[in-house]
Amino acid sequence: MTSVAAQKFSGQRRKMVEEQLLNRGIRDYRLLEVMSRTPRHLFVQESFQDRAYGDHPLPIGESQTISQPYVVAKMTEALNLKGGEKVLEIGTGSGYQTAVLSEMAGQVFTIERIKKLGVTAQRLLDELGYMNVVYKLFDGTYGWPDQAPFDAILITAGAPELPDMLVQQLKDGGRLVAPVGEMENQKLTSAVKCGDKLREESLGDCSFVRLVGRYGWPE
Ligand code: SAH
Repeated sequence: MTSVAAQKFSGQRRKMVEEQLLNRGIRDYRLLEVMSRTPRHLFVQESFQDRAYGDHPLPIGESQTISQPYVVAKMTEALNLKGGEKVLEIGTGSGYQTAVLSEMAGQVFTIERIKKLGVTAQRLLDELGYMNVVYKLFDGTYGWPDQAPFDAILITAGAPELPDMLVQQLKDGGRLVAPVGEMENQKLTSAVKCGDKLREESLGDCSFVRLVGRYGWPE
């Protein structure tokens, strides 16, 4: 990329962080720093690159979307990551949220059910040098039992309810963040596991593509 293009995108990134994240109350400074250098434009198709830092989701093919920057920030902030955690992500999609988690945590296990998206995201993240990410193509509602328990779990697709299998794979004191509710509209839900109880809190309304699978919505 020419340095002119690189400069244009870094300017757009700075503006995105200030106007969409800082101004709306995102306060995790490590996260703000990570999002101010993660090249979101590389995670969308070339024809959308000029809109990559806009205040909206964008299509990534296969009827799926890359989440709005603010939503990525809000979900990541809710996980309360300090740097050494083992994180499970369901719904790799474009890989953008994976990249942010890779910088914020110790190790990321990410699952995608659509092969084309999973393979493309893995190739890009490998190329960009995100080395602490492990990939799986599967129905993520089963979680990743061999690697459990996780300090944090993030579901980036809308679930009818919090999948039990995933709750079981969370450490005591661990956090799970997911959109939960109807097919079109959900509540962004943050849950902390306390022994055999889950302490849930709603972080507001959201609208995600569906979590499709055994413990999600039917195909
Ligand atoms: N974090 C991604 C969001 C992609 S959209 C990004 O910002 O790009 C949600 C993704 O979840 C889609 O790619 C979809 O295919 C995937 N998905 C839906 N149900 C799934 C399941 N059961 N297991 C794994 N991935 C799933």
